[in-house]
Amino acid sequence: MNLALPRLCSNCRHYQRLAQRTPFKLWDRTCAKCEKEIKTSYSPNRPEIIYCESCYNNEVA
Ligand SMILES: [Zn+2]
Repeated sequence: MNLALPRLCSNCRHYQRLAQRTPFKLWDRTCAKCEKEIKTSYSPNRPEIIYCESCYNNEVA
């Protein structure tokens, strides 16, 4: 598999909760597959392909 799978995904809910309390940088991005809007700590200029949680789970399933 030639994808850099986002580590954040398995902890999305945790990180989003954290982000509401602390200034942790999350970027508004869209899933590379379904184009759903997601939050990620991967900045837009990073080369990794970003998937939303459900697409990520489909990929690793
Ligand atoms: Zn998706």
